[in-house]
Amino acid sequence: MNEKAIEEILGGVIRNVLSELKGQSPVSAAGLNTTDSIPVELSARHVHLSEADAVELFGHALTPVRELSQPGQFLAKERVRLIGPKGVMDNVAVLGPSRDSSQVEVSKTDARILGVDAPVRQSGDVAGTPGIILASQTGIVGLEEGVIVASRHIHMSPADASRFGVADSDKVSVHLDSDRPVTLEEVLVRVGDSFNLAMHIDPDEGNSSGWNSQVTGRIVGRN
Ligand SMILES: [Zn+2]
Repeated sequence: MNEKAIEEILGGVIRNVLSELKGQSPVSAAGLNTTDSIPVELSARHVHLSEADAVELFGHALTPVRELSQPGQFLAKERVRLIGPKGVMDNVAVLGPSRDSSQVEVSKTDARILGVDAPVRQSGDVAGTPGIILASQTGIVGLEEGVIVASRHIHMSPADASRFGVADSDKVSVHLDSDRPVTLEEVLVRVGDSFNLAMHIDPDEGNSSGWNSQVTGRIVGRN
């Protein structure tokens, strides 16, 4: 081992000791904070509607009933039925506020039941995805595209991003500390001024990892 390599290793050790002495979390070789925990929330199947589609289905704009963890986002009183080529799902949650275009977020299991070949995509990236029919008691809307399996992601503020040593659009591995622990790779980091720290996974991921509302995650690597 040459002198420079030894210096680098010693430098890393010293930095970690110093940051521990300062009461900060140790930083891994990749510059990641691998010890601080992240709350993990399960996103069940839901729909985002454009204003026009909401009016078509319900005759009016969405009615907020409960705030969600991300500021400004809410669960609406209104519910929809999803009608796919092979199956139907009733009482599906609608989240507000309205968006530019409607989007349906389901798990891979849901997609199979509905009979749509939904790809894993980041929210909002719906070009070329399958369509579906949305129905209420009084209206019906045919979406030409918009059915996705949302890619797992972490919302965080710029302050949290610097604490964890990551940046917007980074992909990281997250270890879920549960009684059925797994490490999920390719978790998208989404940094925004209005974001509260939360990782979002879908029910398939939740069931496979023994998720419950107490489960937290730790970033353990970069992808
Ligand atoms: Zn999310």
